[in-house]
Amino acid sequence: MALKGPTEEEMRTILMPLMLSGARMLDKHCPKCGSPLFEKDGRVFCPICGHRKKQRGAEMKGVEERLMEKLNELANSLPDDIDELEKHLRAMEKIIELLERYRKLEGGE
Ligand SMILES: [Zn+2]
Repeated sequence: MALKGPTEEEMRTILMPLMLSGARMLDKHCPKCGSPLFEKDGRVFCPICGHRKKQRGAEMKGVEERLMEKLNELANSLPDDIDELEKHLRAMEKIIELLERYRKLEGGE
């Protein structure tokens, strides 16, 4: 995996405000992304990795929300016809499976 340092936007929106907030930029670099590491309140951290992880989490949340919406939609429009109902329920089952898988992904790492 290639080291991908902070983009210009990340420098401007994450690193700069951090420096201004009194965090100390160290002369060490993150082994994961190559960004300079920071120290604040005795804690050393990589602001870029932290930010990217949060962003990934937000994307996952978006997927989860859309799946939940669809699930509600299906649950609120259950047909009387048995064949149709079965299709509906199968689709709901798939969505629930997906949701579970997403939640596992989120909890991981
Ligand atoms: Zn990093």
